[in-house]
Amino acid sequence: MPDIRHQSLLITGGAGFIGSHFIRRWLERNYGPVWNFDALTYAGNQASLTDVAQRQDYHFVRGDIADADAVRQVIELAQPDAIVHCAAESHVDRSIEQPGQFVDTNILGAYVLVDAALSYWRTLDADRRAEFRFLNVSTDEVFGSAAPGQLFAESDPFAPNSPYAASKASAAHLCRAYWRTYGLPLITTYGSNTYGPYQYPEKLLPTAILAAAEGRQIPLYGDGLHERDWLFVADHCAGLETVLAKGSPGVCYNVGSSQPIANCQLLDRLCEQLDLRQGAVAGENAKRIETVADRPGHDRRYGLDCDRIRTLGWTPQRSLAEGLRKTIIWYEENTTWLASLTKSDYQGRRGLGRRDSNSSNPDVKGR
Ligand code: NAD
Repeated sequence: MPDIRHQSLLITGGAGFIGSHFIRRWLERNYGPVWNFDALTYAGNQASLTDVAQRQDYHFVRGDIADADAVRQVIELAQPDAIVHCAAESHVDRSIEQPGQFVDTNILGAYVLVDAALSYWRTLDADRRAEFRFLNVSTDEVFGSAAPGQLFAESDPFAPNSPYAASKASAAHLCRAYWRTYGLPLITTYGSNTYGPYQYPEKLLPTAILAAAEGRQIPLYGDGLHERDWLFVADHCAGLETVLAKGSPGVCYNVGSSQPIANCQLLDRLCEQLDLRQGAVAGENAKRIETVADRPGHDRRYGLDCDRIRTLGWTPQRSLAEGLRKTIIWYEENTTWLASLTKSDYQGRRGLGRRDSNSSNPDVKGR
């Protein structure tokens, strides 16, 4: 079992949402040097790491995981004991509009990275080879839509429904094959919907929080009954660390809350927290929720059975109410971070075909 306390970590996509939290967690615990390899797409933001940027044990290298030379060079520099692969195109709506970018990064990029990791791993001595880990950070969306009451187990078949989910499923298959064929010590995690500070505001919860703060309507897809298994980002990162330290190579682990909740209920819970925070009359923020045209191929339900990772000692530490409260406060207090998203095309909206969020938009229906 690897002792992660003295390890050199190479992380891809560390300027993104989950990656930046994972880096901060690693450095706070002084486990060892971190090399963050990130292309800085619209979703990557170095402002998410300003508090650690000056540390001697933090290194940033800008590069694309699909660029074999750049990947080989950063591995050479970092001499990692572990590679945590977070880099991805991660937004389902964008994958519907531009699937090619998802194939390039999430499939071809994953291939380039895992193949370079194999070449490097083969050069290590026997002790370091045994301790080395490649952690492929994947998603519950690879399983497709769950039946009512169903929680997916890691052994369930893949049935991805969006180009995003299909690209992540391809990468997970490739990782499995590199373990089975070459023995590269690989682990894949299937994480559920994650939320918290530093999330790019195209995803549901930051979209809703910022819409409420700016006095706009809060968009809710379709009938709002799509269920998701929500996990606070610190809990997700603790799960990744647990698997890295105690997981078995060749094994996959679900990481989720195992408590799916409908999107309309989630927004109601968020609005309750917003009312409390603002000292508003109960129900005031919920009046802003309005349904918008549904996403094509929108999975009805995700839910994860997390018994396997729980046997390693991991369990989520934050309740949904606590996580929502922390997230609301963070977005309130971090307007500078939001202002740093200048290079992005973020304009306070999400979803396909939405051009603005007032009810004159033909895509918007009253709730
Ligand atoms: P994110 O979109 O916030 O960040 C992705 C990061 O990857 C960005 O910093 C971006 O610049 C970088 N990147 C993109 N393409 C790259 C490339 N070609 N080369 C190098 N870097 C590149 O994503 P996230 O929400 O932090 O997700 C991280 C990982 O976790 C992803 O693999 C995602 O599929 C998975 N995941 C996310 C969630 C979630 O709810 N956010 C849930 C489960 C799994």
